Amino acid sequence: MKFSGRTLFNNIPVEITIAEGRVQEIREVPSTDSTTWVAPALVDIQVNGFAGFDLNVTTVTPEDVCTMIRALWQVGTGFLCPTVVTGSFDGICNSLRAIVKACEMDSLIAHSVLGIHLEGPYISAEDGPRGAHPLEHVRGPDWDEFQRWQDIADGKISIVTLAPEKKGAIPFIKKLVTNGIVVALGHTNASANDIQGAIDAGAKLSTHLGNGAHALIRRHPNYIWEQLGADQLWASLIVDGHHLPPAVAKSMMRAKTLDRCLLVSDAIALAGMEPGIYQFAGKSVELTEERCVRLVGTEYLAGSAIELARGIENSVRFADISLEEAVSLATLQPMHLLDAKARLETETNLILFEWDPSQFKINLIATIVGAELVYHAEAQ
Ligand SMILES: [Zn+2]
Repeated sequence: MKFSGRTLFNNIPVEITIAEGRVQEIREVPSTDSTTWVAPALVDIQVNGFAGFDLNVTTVTPEDVCTMIRALWQVGTGFLCPTVVTGSFDGICNSLRAIVKACEMDSLIAHSVLGIHLEGPYISAEDGPRGAHPLEHVRGPDWDEFQRWQDIADGKISIVTLAPEKKGAIPFIKKLVTNGIVVALGHTNASANDIQGAIDAGAKLSTHLGNGAHALIRRHPNYIWEQLGADQLWASLIVDGHHLPPAVAKSMMRAKTLDRCLLVSDAIALAGMEPGIYQFAGKSVELTEERCVRLVGTEYLAGSAIELARGIENSVRFADISLEEAVSLATLQPMHLLDAKARLETETNLILFEWDPSQFKINLIATIVGAELVYHAEAQ
């Protein structure tokens, strides 16, 4: 089997030969009639669940993790940071063990897992900044506790999202940075001083900037402007059209510049599911046709339910950026942040897709992970 297309980032016509489900050869050809684009497989550094699987329930198994990741391949996401959120000590241990075991069971799953994102539990206890994280498990930074988790995680925790105003957070950030972990600010009620202190200690990212925040805040100064204006911080953005209104997503990309932005899905288990009413985290939630998850009968968002590819489409639509720029926000940018960009050159992890500019639509044709054809639209 052969695929033809052009590489998105440098517009080179290529032909990809597949045999026995693996890429045998990728060669440049003089020209092609194909309208297919060939781009790196998508990279999502914040995934809490997908296709009905939730990484943060006590019943999560290594098989669930594997099935969830294979489902992500079907929608173009080739790399991810499974995200473990605020919970009890044992609850977090359980999720970490399931992810590590999944990587041990299947080398292609291990290939796909860039690292684990620990979001919490060292975050703000305040309503608003805390988001949907359970209050009873929110606490202050504890290096011994973190090290126990990192041991269980086999050293795979590579991003920690925390609130820098927590007591002891600044020395804690320094230790994380010394250990090669990307520190992200999020679910925070930080002052300008707290944010500057975190930056000086080596924090690099604002997690889902503009979300995990109070519904109402002072117009300025506030922690959103302070992070938006800090050139040392990158920002991850949930561009699903609900978490950030289109004008906010556009303004943040302009203010941060695309060099310091990246897209995340922040998907929960309902991503990849049909619209309807579901029970999620003990609450009734509605997943709408527009991929918005709300607590039933309210306007409160209860999580994100998009695939990362939809964030790319929305970025083109909302922020008036090119397809190439938008894809970069979900491939090169997160790999750069995690210092893993070389993997995009030395390994074969690709998506092939058609772009419909009138509908702002990515129509996925194939996903290749670790040189294996893990999804092919026509074979479904
Ligand atoms: Zn969050």
